[in-house]
Amino acid sequence: MNKSNFINNKWCHSPTGKPFQKVNPANSKVIIFSSLYANADLSFEAVEAANKSWAMWKNIKLNERIEYLYRLIRLLDKNRTQLAEIITLENGKLFNESLQEISASILEGNYQLEFLTNNLIEKVGDHEIRYEPTGSSLLITPWNFPIATILRKLIPTLALGNTAIVKASENTPLTSVTLFKIIEEVGFPPGVVNLLNGFGSELIPQIIKSNKIATISFTGSTKNGKKIFRNIGGKLIKYQAEMGGNNTVLILNDSNLDLAISSVVSNSFACCGQWCTGTGRILVEEKIFTTFKKKLISAVNNLNPGNGMDKKSTIGPLISESQLLKTNSAVKLAKKNGAEIILGGKRINSEDLKYGYFYEPTILSNIKDNMQIFDEEIFGPVISIIKVKNAKDGINILNKSRYGLSFSVYGKNRKILEEIVTKVETGLSHINLPTTYRDVALPLLGWKDSGYGIAESGRFARDFFSRTKAIYRN
Ligand code: NAD
Repeated sequence: MNKSNFINNKWCHSPTGKPFQKVNPANSKVIIFSSLYANADLSFEAVEAANKSWAMWKNIKLNERIEYLYRLIRLLDKNRTQLAEIITLENGKLFNESLQEISASILEGNYQLEFLTNNLIEKVGDHEIRYEPTGSSLLITPWNFPIATILRKLIPTLALGNTAIVKASENTPLTSVTLFKIIEEVGFPPGVVNLLNGFGSELIPQIIKSNKIATISFTGSTKNGKKIFRNIGGKLIKYQAEMGGNNTVLILNDSNLDLAISSVVSNSFACCGQWCTGTGRILVEEKIFTTFKKKLISAVNNLNPGNGMDKKSTIGPLISESQLLKTNSAVKLAKKNGAEIILGGKRINSEDLKYGYFYEPTILSNIKDNMQIFDEEIFGPVISIIKVKNAKDGINILNKSRYGLSFSVYGKNRKILEEIVTKVETGLSHINLPTTYRDVALPLLGWKDSGYGIAESGRFARDFFSRTKAIYRN
């Protein structure tokens, strides 16, 4: 039995915690990890450890804290192959996608360390603004980017002088434990960075009640992001949430169709559709709808589902049986409500893949705005294509969505493209680039039901994980 919690620099578990086993999603018969989930007592220990170490950590010089974190980045780089293998083993995504996750984290971490080294004091004439630490940060993370979402939050908060409790996803414990073995090697002082592996619904309300958390940064579903907001209630905890989306691409008549198709296919089906900014809906102008549909079917047909470690695979499995069932029921319900399945639409049952959580890359058409699928985040390898009269019609459909995470438009007329991105209600908008495209300096935060508070990414990480002190001098 593995110990999956790291508190005060010691590996531990709750002897009374619920036992669990993780299987490889590419072959559910292979068990890869067994442990006991953390319970409330263990989460209090983590909170105590983080609180106790704060006084010491915040008083360590900035450049020393930054040096600990550069050491972490160097170790990530050194262990990138092993980490990527673990992500693929546990999450199912392609090995190359896992490697890209590590590379993106290294890039983002380096950006944060450089930015924070130079921007924690701002001079305003003789006066100044200082960005000061707030206390202990609770970082709640999902399974789809099990390394990147932890590091996106952890690196800036520690650099600023806060301590941290990471409540990692209960679906990727092997990955978070492997990451924390590397964190252990960095040699942070005890209590500065702690890991809990358990159910958020059991642990988080208890931790919030302790009144010992200064900031909470959450990435996950909209439903749970809102639950945490309700749990915080009137407590003066800084909170930010990166939540779900139904990211939309608008294809205009004059777009470069080959570019649009290749980016839509790689974005919709990367990580088997389990990417928060991946594309779920494609709105296509009438005139090119039939040609687009034909080309899209042919491109998606070329995908080759398989084990993420197999170089020939171009799409891996879903992470779990529950994601597989959720995807399948969303597709079946859409069909019942009148949608047309123009490609895929069922679990893959071939001899070599039948024990994995593989689902056929799926395209749905004939979607009406009264169907659940119209504005639903499926989080699987399923896309919907919808015919629109013109760009205005497309923007209206998009802006009716409860979500507002990411959007892309493909076309040639620069003026029209600029007008469109100005009108759409999403936190991320792209012109002739995929919905997943991102620069590490820019915020990754949705609007409406997709995001809340100040981004914990880009240069806004500083603002979220700090409190300001204004100093006036005569
Ligand atoms: P999830 O909401 O089920 O879980 C996320 C985390 O929250 C986990 O650590 C979980 O234990 C915890 N949690 C669950 N219930 C909780 C509760 N009641 N109180 C407190 N914590 C709770 O999400 P998931 O299935 O792990 O991840 C997929 C979702 O995450 C998708 O909706 C996806 O769009 C979203 N996501 C968003 C972004 C973004 O940047 N906007 C990035 C990645 C993933």
